[in-house]
Amino acid sequence: MGIITTQAMAEPNNNLPKFNCDAMMGGLARWLRAAGYDAEFEYGIDDRPLVARALATGRILLSCDGPMFERNVITSGRVHALLIPRQLTKLQQLRFVMSELDLPLARPRCMACGGELDEVPKHTVADEAPPLAFRNCRKFFRCRRCAKLLWHGTHWQKITRRLDEIRP
Ligand SMILES: [Zn+2]
Repeated sequence: MGIITTQAMAEPNNNLPKFNCDAMMGGLARWLRAAGYDAEFEYGIDDRPLVARALATGRILLSCDGPMFERNVITSGRVHALLIPRQLTKLQQLRFVMSELDLPLARPRCMACGGELDEVPKHTVADEAPPLAFRNCRKFFRCRRCAKLLWHGTHWQKITRRLDEIRP
């Protein structure tokens, strides 16, 4: 199964860069998380607090907003930022980021919030998992940050296949 191959080959998540995505890049943030990266995204956030947050946290700022890159903190190199070409699809954006920064595919994180996932024993989620998922899936995971339950079902497999397509 594709997911197992990917996880076996995935790098550990230590020392990987973290990201702040601009208000337009929610889709990219979700894909970055699936590829194993901690990517923050806040719907509707203005440029100024976004840049301030990247400065305070050392996260790499990802944006398709050209004028933002003329800001002093970015031109001076105090905030690391990458300009994403506007016309790319979400998956092409992910491929762009990973190839520009030479990043490996890492262990998947929660696509909803970017938290790390811990495997949980199947029998502990019997009441919580949807019956079909519980019957068909062997592996279940819980997000450390938002407590969301995830499993290796068809949705996850589809995401893994798309990630395998962009593997360098
Ligand atoms: Zn989460």
